[in-house]
Amino acid sequence: MHVRGVGLPDETPTELWIVDGRISTEPVAGADTVFDGGWIIPGLVDAHCHVGLGNGGEIPLEEAVAQAETERDVGALLLRDCGSPTDTRSLDDRDDLPRIIRAGKHLARPKRYAAGFSRELEDEWQLPDAVAEEARRGDGWIKLVGDWIDRGVGDLAPLWSDDVLKAAIETAHAHGARVTAHVFSEDALPGLINAGIDCIEHGTGLTDDTIALMVERGTVLVPTLVNIVENFPGIADAAAAKYPAYAAHMRDLHARGPSRIAAARDAGVPIYAGSDAGTMVAPGRIADEVEALKGIGMSPAEALGAACWDARRWLGRPALDHGASADLLCYAQDPRSGPAVLRDPDLVILRGRAFRPQA
Ligand SMILES: [Zn+2]
Repeated sequence: MHVRGVGLPDETPTELWIVDGRISTEPVAGADTVFDGGWIIPGLVDAHCHVGLGNGGEIPLEEAVAQAETERDVGALLLRDCGSPTDTRSLDDRDDLPRIIRAGKHLARPKRYAAGFSRELEDEWQLPDAVAEEARRGDGWIKLVGDWIDRGVGDLAPLWSDDVLKAAIETAHAHGARVTAHVFSEDALPGLINAGIDCIEHGTGLTDDTIALMVERGTVLVPTLVNIVENFPGIADAAAAKYPAYAAHMRDLHARGPSRIAAARDAGVPIYAGSDAGTMVAPGRIADEVEALKGIGMSPAEALGAACWDARRWLGRPALDHGASADLLCYAQDPRSGPAVLRDPDLVILRGRAFRPQA
């Protein structure tokens, strides 16, 4: 196959040939031109989603396959799975599904995360060993639940003490894995960042001090803005009668979260796009997250990069490079123009195989 158009982010005329599933930047005789005129970008990245997670936790593998197919059809060809109770490793044998970088199972404490989602550790000092096991099973990431409602306290509270986090994150790094954590609130952030965590998910409770700490430590942020904006009020409403302080805290984080995430960007914290698809957010929403990132001050190109070339570099995956797997998208209209275009690529090429989502 042969495709020709304007390559992003450089806006340079681009011609690519696809041979044996790989990109060639050098001409290949006899290639069939399948796209000509328009825009060409590397496959999108959803840097926070959950393939294999449903409302009650584990789901049948066919449902996980359907989640992955939906992501492929909107152009998300590289998924960072931020924790799944379903073992989806067999999906790696399917060459029609997006590539998945797994974080294994969420690591939490009993009753300190959504029921059925996580591996629950009775004693917090079991965390380093659990991290080592998940690191062996995953694809280079570990997912911790950093804070959740503590029903005894009636508010969000950290799950782990600082010494446990230091030992656990050290163990992950010794196994070659990076660590990220679900964090809504303020209090869990200093312990996690000081322990050397690589990434924070959500980050609605970031303060000027913890933003400065992230800059100092080189910590990355994946905010999942769509989930915050759409779902925090409902979470607060559902809990308000029994846990009013928690509900008020969630409403406050909803009100202030986007401006705190904008402050993190202004301070220089690297931010990538994650939809949080899997439970409250349906699969296939990465284009909406890109749009939401414009709302915290990103330019259209920067927001797209956070779900594409920049996210690929962060995750150590190639873009439109000679010899790379042919995972790319072709658009007749400029994909920076908005979610209606971005979610509807004219041609999806995954491992050198063409998919036309509308056909
Ligand atoms: Zn999530």
